[in-house]
Amino acid sequence: MSNCAIVGINWGDEGKGRMVDLLTEDYDVVVRYQGGGNAGHTVINEHGKFALHLLPSGIFRDGVVNILGNGVALDPENLWAEMQDVMSKGVTLTPDNLKISDRASLLLPWHRDLDELEEMRLGDKKYGSTKQGIAPFYSDKYQKKTVLAGELFYPEELKAHLADLMEWKNLTLTRVYSARPYTMEMLEEWLTVSCEKIKPYICDTGAFLKAAQSGGKKILFEAQLGSLRDLDYGIYPYTTSSNTTAAYAPIGSGLPSARITNVIGVVKAYSTCVGEGPFVCEMFGDEAEELRKAGFEYGAKTGRPRRVGAFDIVATRYGVEVQAATEIALTKLDVLSYMKKIPVCTRYLLNGEQTSRFPFPSALQKATPVIEYLDGWGCDISGVRRFEDLPKKAQEYVNFIEKAIDCPITYVSVGPERDSIIIRK
Ligand code: GDP
Repeated sequence: MSNCAIVGINWGDEGKGRMVDLLTEDYDVVVRYQGGGNAGHTVINEHGKFALHLLPSGIFRDGVVNILGNGVALDPENLWAEMQDVMSKGVTLTPDNLKISDRASLLLPWHRDLDELEEMRLGDKKYGSTKQGIAPFYSDKYQKKTVLAGELFYPEELKAHLADLMEWKNLTLTRVYSARPYTMEMLEEWLTVSCEKIKPYICDTGAFLKAAQSGGKKILFEAQLGSLRDLDYGIYPYTTSSNTTAAYAPIGSGLPSARITNVIGVVKAYSTCVGEGPFVCEMFGDEAEELRKAGFEYGAKTGRPRRVGAFDIVATRYGVEVQAATEIALTKLDVLSYMKKIPVCTRYLLNGEQTSRFPFPSALQKATPVIEYLDGWGCDISGVRRFEDLPKKAQEYVNFIEKAIDCPITYVSVGPERDSIIIRK
């Protein structure tokens, strides 16, 4: 396998972490190329259970080099806490197996404050942010108002740069939000306590990746969230503030010359969505509660109950197209085992007409789902490892989805553990 991206096809939380953890066996390098600590990739392996927020999910494999690319929102404080947690469970992290791009922008302490202050100001109209500072971070990055990780190696210049940024940001904090201003002492403490810890891992990862590519190394690009949260192609403004698509991987990883030949789109066997925004296939009441409990659908970062719904063919087809997915990993099929009849949203009803095209974000609020039911299989499938050993009805469910989304389903996962997987190749 050559270069490969593992991306989310839906609203996030599809199970990308477990797929990266599984597939890293065949790769030399894993790169996180966008997003920040606002999501959690759950990985369960011999070291325990982890919700990785920033660290690439290849971190558990010996010999794999893990990179945080220039496209990520690099939060030194949270990253260091996560590194300590992973190390305390017996995983070795060194500058040889973890490398941070010197061109990654730093999430500054006020970004989290601003995220929280703005959600409070919005009240009922809030976006449902995880309050990790991601939106303020990316807006500042594009305004050129944050600092690059590599600036930590230029302390005098960095202090002057931070003082300028602080003067500007204090205007917003105090005048717009009546919040407390920052002082240089606070920033110096942040530099000493958090930034110094991650400094040994910062390097020119672009040069490393270029050499890895020339040396024929296999590179895996790990995305966060899913197609429908992409800043440009998602359900704006209920998106995240970065590009979650495979097309962004070459830019955000630091290897603009990368050609990504395989795009594995991760799709859940039903739908979930954290936070606000239109979610056409949503279930409510007891039906939703039952599915939420069966799939343990509570946010990895926030613990918030996730909104749940039927598998959405309209949104998934769109997600596959946006990601240019070449194959699909269908996760959590085991969760549906309790259902007698499995609902699937096959089309949307919009302005009195049925459509299979994913609508413009403003129109989504008015769309309602057209639901069809497939037969359930009514038995535990978590021990199955070969497709032909799945109950006939479970095979039919997978085949139905595969045909409807027009992309081969090459992996079916039936449990959260690394080996709870059916490979169909
Ligand atoms: P990610 O952000 O895309 O990596 O997804 P999350 O980690 O937020 O959510 C996936 C959740 O589903 C995690 O709790 C996983 O342990 C769990 N999971 C992944 N695959 C399966 C599966 O096939 N079956 C079950 N029951 N759980 C799974």
